[in-house]
Amino acid sequence: MKQCTIIVVGGGHAGVEAATAARRMGADVTLVTMNRDTIGVMSCNPAIGGLGKGHLVREVDALGGVMGRAADKAGIQYRLLNRSKGPAVQGPRAQMDRALYRSAVQETVTEAGVTVVEAQVGDLIVSNGRVSGVRTHQAGDLRADSVVLTTGTFLNGVIHIGDEQRSGGRVGENAASDLAHRLYGMKLPMGRLKTGTPPRLEGASIAWDALEAQPGDEDPTMLSFLSSHPVARQISCGITHTNPRTHEIIGRNLHRSAMYSGNISGSGPRYCPSIEDKIGRFADKESHQIFLEPEGLDDNTVYPNGISTSLPADVQDEYVRSIVGLENAKIVQPGYAIEYDYVDPRALDETLQVSALPGLWLAGQINGTTGYEEAAAQGLIAGIGAVCSARREEPIRFSRTTSYMGVMVDDLITRGVTEPYRMFTSRAEFRLSLRADNADQRLTPLGIDLGLVDDARRSAFETKISMLGDARGVLGSRMFTPKQARAVGINVSADGSKKSARALLSIPNVGSGEISQLLPEVLTWEPEIVAQLAREAVYANYLDRQTKEAERLRRDEDTEIPAAFDYDFIAGLSSELQGKLAQRRPRTIAAAAKIEGMTPAALNAVILALRRPSRREA
Ligand code: FAD
Repeated sequence: MKQCTIIVVGGGHAGVEAATAARRMGADVTLVTMNRDTIGVMSCNPAIGGLGKGHLVREVDALGGVMGRAADKAGIQYRLLNRSKGPAVQGPRAQMDRALYRSAVQETVTEAGVTVVEAQVGDLIVSNGRVSGVRTHQAGDLRADSVVLTTGTFLNGVIHIGDEQRSGGRVGENAASDLAHRLYGMKLPMGRLKTGTPPRLEGASIAWDALEAQPGDEDPTMLSFLSSHPVARQISCGITHTNPRTHEIIGRNLHRSAMYSGNISGSGPRYCPSIEDKIGRFADKESHQIFLEPEGLDDNTVYPNGISTSLPADVQDEYVRSIVGLENAKIVQPGYAIEYDYVDPRALDETLQVSALPGLWLAGQINGTTGYEEAAAQGLIAGIGAVCSARREEPIRFSRTTSYMGVMVDDLITRGVTEPYRMFTSRAEFRLSLRADNADQRLTPLGIDLGLVDDARRSAFETKISMLGDARGVLGSRMFTPKQARAVGINVSADGSKKSARALLSIPNVGSGEISQLLPEVLTWEPEIVAQLAREAVYANYLDRQTKEAERLRRDEDTEIPAAFDYDFIAGLSSELQGKLAQRRPRTIAAAAKIEGMTPAALNAVILALRRPSRREA
């Protein structure tokens, strides 16, 4: 295997996954970051996972990534979101002890053998049209076969608290302005986005007894496939609400909010609005829920989830104290908004390499996304891409039919972003099969092939697959008459035909309790195997249809369009579409299908033109 050297810039969630993935694949990896102590820091909320995000964590984990295992070392409250809905849209989430999470990540980086260099990167070294290293302020020039930039919110970051503004990548840390200017100079398409964070409160100043407590789940759903139970002490959060007085204080001071005063030009996430946005947009609501989340077991800081803000500190103080339980609350760090540069991800290929600048990969918030999980998943993809390219191996493409990672990359590089992009289950058209519970079955085989997965995970996975295979065989082959089924309380039609145990398991409200009365050996199977089979059975009918659709899309995805394909000569294409295709140069039919304004007829015309032996290339 060709030895290669990779430089990863940034020690956030994207940088850590990129560096450790490249290292697991055998590359020499240097992680250059401004401050080694902030590797693995959570800039905003102390939680990992959630709806859509939990899927990404499991996928990263299935490929041997860091996030799930670190989160399970630091998890202090586990909740499976959407528990009452189907498994496809359930989201495992855990609240973190920030300090434990950071140290778990730092330990992994050290154990992986990543070299950490504490320095600020101000420039990229480009030789013969390929990025071949970075120029740092403190450590001179560093050379590599591939460079991955994961600079988060630091590019030209500006922090806003009311009408106060200061340069910063996040609170207490410098912005990366030189690098941002250099990227502008390289003519990368860039824009401005914003996000915000709430004030942090001193835990001892909160009247917890006056508040509703929210405990975690009794049977925690772990974030890593390799974890079986939480290791840290588990805690409850508190719940409180804003009220008309809170809204009156905020309404009266709206003109002092950075977001409303016109000081911020970047777009923020609509689905994660600040408290001033909520009050403006949902004026008829008298109250908004706030989760009071302790930031750690030995940390007296509390994160009030739901009131991110860029109001001045004195207004934050006044509105916080209008809330039940927070009458005497002390703010230890005011909330703030941050505005930063991002690179339009349509400039990237499927591996997250900048198409116009070979040798350079971008991952995480720099690509217009928001969230630790989105960043981690991109870091992994970019790390793999950087190693494959350095070794001149075929690039690995993540398809939207087999992973949320594929959905995210495809959305980013074909559609771009107009606001910070976060993952939702609704973004995945094949979500019935892309469940959090089967991420290992979808991706661990690829992880094994790429060398991303260690022996312990490989062996646990192979044992699980073998147990699942045996159990599926038994469930599919053992047949029962309607009379036998009804005798154990399963309501089946009396049409006389026998049904397999698997078919019986797919009937709503039938579980292992009923099936084990017909098939006592089910009781000897691991509970997780039985639960997995029950989920599969429930979705079996829908999945057949979805599999056919997925196959059709996969065929489309695989039809490549030559880079120099000439669209001018395709009859039936409007000149507007000819122009868009020529400008965007989609690599595949699936990518062409996503161009705004593309119709099935126009797409068919492109497919027919591609099949023509006399096709023209410009
Ligand atoms: P980061 O975690 O930001 O890491 C960037 C890394 O790059 C850091 O280690 C930094 O030191 C390093 N770096 C930067 N420039 C250089 C350079 N030139 N040289 C060397 N090192 C460099 N996410 C949500 O999901 N919901 C939210 O509500 C939310 N709110 C947020 C509010 C704020 C104020 C902030 C700052 C972030 C918020 N986020 C939120 C976003 C979340 O923190 C990020 O999405 C996530 O951390 C991105 O990970 P990343 O790896 O891309 O970058």
